[in-house]
Amino acid sequence: MVPEVKKCHVEQCFYNKDMECNAHSILVGSSEPVCETFMQSSRHTNKSGQAEVGACRVDQCEYNKGMFCHACSDIEVGFKNNQAWCTTFEPKS
Ligand code: SF4
Repeated sequence: MVPEVKKCHVEQCFYNKDMECNAHSILVGSSEPVCETFMQSSRHTNKSGQAEVGACRVDQCEYNKGMFCHACSDIEVGFKNNQAWCTTFEPKS
């Protein structure tokens, strides 16, 4: 099953409405787990629907297998280091 973005705290993003991500899917990372789909905007989409994690390039994450996210539960996106950030990221042990 493809994980979805269960909550996004980045309210200054075009795709964020009521703390939900309404993009079709998001792309996460490469060297850091940033949400590459983030788009700074004071306007918000009219579309409703929960975004899937379409692809993730953070292969240092415990949940990354073959450049896809395999987190069992859905992920969350927050704000860290001044960027939209996958807060479900877990460094590989
Ligand atoms: S939990 Fe890990 S594998 Fe899944 S999107 Fe976040 S950084 Fe990528």
